[in-house]
Amino acid sequence: MSFVTVRVPAKVNVQLAVGPLRDDGFHDLVNVFLAVSVFDEVVAKESETVSVRVEGESADQVPVDDGNLAIQAARALAKHAGRTYGVELVIRKAIPVAGGMAGGSADAAGTLVACNELWGLGLPREDLMEIAADLGSDVPFSLLGGTAVGTGRGEQLTALPVKGTFHWVFAVADGGLSTAKVYAECDRLRAATGEEVAWPQASEPLLRALQEGDARALGAELSNDLQAAAVMLRGSLARTLEAGRERGALGAIVSGSGPTCAFLAADEEHARELAVALTGAGVCRTAVPAHGPVPGASIV
Ligand code: ATP
Repeated sequence: MSFVTVRVPAKVNVQLAVGPLRDDGFHDLVNVFLAVSVFDEVVAKESETVSVRVEGESADQVPVDDGNLAIQAARALAKHAGRTYGVELVIRKAIPVAGGMAGGSADAAGTLVACNELWGLGLPREDLMEIAADLGSDVPFSLLGGTAVGTGRGEQLTALPVKGTFHWVFAVADGGLSTAKVYAECDRLRAATGEEVAWPQASEPLLRALQEGDARALGAELSNDLQAAAVMLRGSLARTLEAGRERGALGAIVSGSGPTCAFLAADEEHARELAVALTGAGVCRTAVPAHGPVPGASIV
């Protein structure tokens, strides 16, 4: 086989509950992930060495050295197999870079699936999930896709039953936000109020809304403990969220650590209209309609 192409989705956190800061610097999280139809493509080609090229929007903001999560994924897989393998990776990016939609994690997950096939390793998904968890807390979900609740750092996953499809609009901002800085700001805001931080728990009404395919109920239950910090660091997000609410979004939320904002629409047509209205309102660089849940990293 001379090359393999894998399509891998972005995610939105319909709930992101951030627990107290742990001694190891991480937080215990409850993350309800939904995979959505904004896809990066990872093409893996036979090569003697490991390299990556990035194409598409904001490609210039993605490192092409060992800092690239796709390179780290290829090396981790080769190490697991106990061999030295080479691969030429090409990433076609559609997921906003540093946008809170797990783009880097998606590329890492896509690389694991692509190289497993290219190198003929035949490793089962469970092995790939283990390697994924070492690469980053969002990588296992990018492999799994669908809808799942993640605990720990987000990497311990349980798939969730969901009825039907939810329609979204993602308002992409100019420039990214550093996930580490958003967590640090969240800690700072919490220290300033002195409030005790509750142990994170999945919201029962939210899980019910997903299970029943009830978009209106889901819209009302969306929550993100990082939102205040993201808005503090990027004040313009408050206006973006408000613009979506004013235009009839069933729910509006910062996606993960931002700055992408996610709006839940009533149906596909509403999502299309909302995307046009948000782009026209000048509150984001672009607004993209998408749906979910969709499957995780898959060979095309
Ligand atoms: P998350 O939602 O998981 O917090 P994010 O979507 O906010 O992540 P990413 O797009 O994953 O952010 O990128 C975060 C940083 O990781 C980028 O600024 C970039 O320097 C680095 N990075 C490394 N590899 C990649 C990759 N393949 N794609 C995008 N960014 C990458």
